[in-house]
Amino acid sequence: MQTIVSGMRPTGRLHLGHLHGALRNWVPLQKDYRCYFLVADWHALTSDYASPQSLQQSSVDMVTDWLSVGLDPQRSVIARQSQIKQHAELHLLLSMITPLPWLERNPTYKEQIRELEGKDLSTYGFLGYPVLQAADIVMYKGNKVPVGVDQAPHVELTREIVRRFNQFYGPIFPEPEVLLTQIPKVPGLDGRKMSKSYGNAVFLSDSPKEVEQKLSRMMTDPARARRQDPGEPEKCPAFQLHKIYCTPEEIDYVSKGCRTAGIGCLECKKVMIKHVIRELAPIEEKRQAYEKRPADVEDVLAAGNRVAQEKASETMEEVRVAVGL
Ligand code: SF4
Repeated sequence: MQTIVSGMRPTGRLHLGHLHGALRNWVPLQKDYRCYFLVADWHALTSDYASPQSLQQSSVDMVTDWLSVGLDPQRSVIARQSQIKQHAELHLLLSMITPLPWLERNPTYKEQIRELEGKDLSTYGFLGYPVLQAADIVMYKGNKVPVGVDQAPHVELTREIVRRFNQFYGPIFPEPEVLLTQIPKVPGLDGRKMSKSYGNAVFLSDSPKEVEQKLSRMMTDPARARRQDPGEPEKCPAFQLHKIYCTPEEIDYVSKGCRTAGIGCLECKKVMIKHVIRELAPIEEKRQAYEKRPADVEDVLAAGNRVAQEKASETMEEVRVAVGL
């Protein structure tokens, strides 16, 4: 069975962007692959080093969301990066062989510096983020990394680091491949990318009432300033959610209604909102059950950490011999 490694930074409650951007893809992968899903808390520190207080709670909250969506600890390893100290050792060794220009030219690095304006990210740790990510993947001899097309350059960088390592020290690591997944665009309420830090997110833990209130206010095509003005669905952020949630007949109905001003925006959004609420209901039900038994989530993490540590110890023994340490 091939191995998949993926993870998420524990930056708070998960939202629809996480659901469609990662979790909906992770759940079916558990059937065909040996999966490692990591709570990437050291990664969170690369940008949020000044406020680590909530990392512990955010990690537990995030894993509660993962389990509620359908990650299965019987089939997958769910572990917390910072509890497997071998990641730090491998990160150090990989950093020895990674040329600085490889990191400086990384497009995500420049983009993040722009996006997270207001945080001082001119740190050694932030520049080395992709090296830590490479360590996470190769620690478990990951064969595939599920990503959307915009994340593919990160995996390419891991492949380059692996090739360089194997060239110096022998064939220790497989070159991980990109498992390209279709990731639908999930705009936030204001039309920008959905993100907790933009305050434009619909959280998986929002109640049906909150979901309805938030999505009813979601930005639409500005051409529809008045009810009788026709609009263009492709220019409407809310319509991106219709594309994810609605049936072809519903899409057809709202598209025509929008272009002819036959329906109002609220009526149009209601068609999509009912699907969102229906999708979140079983997730919420499971979360409530986990919230009543928080020790269960801690147990899942403790068990996953043990399995991950075992594999990480094996890998590092091989690595130390290869490097001659
Ligand atoms: S009618 Fe629907 S698709 Fe058209 S602008 Fe309003 S919400 Fe968007």
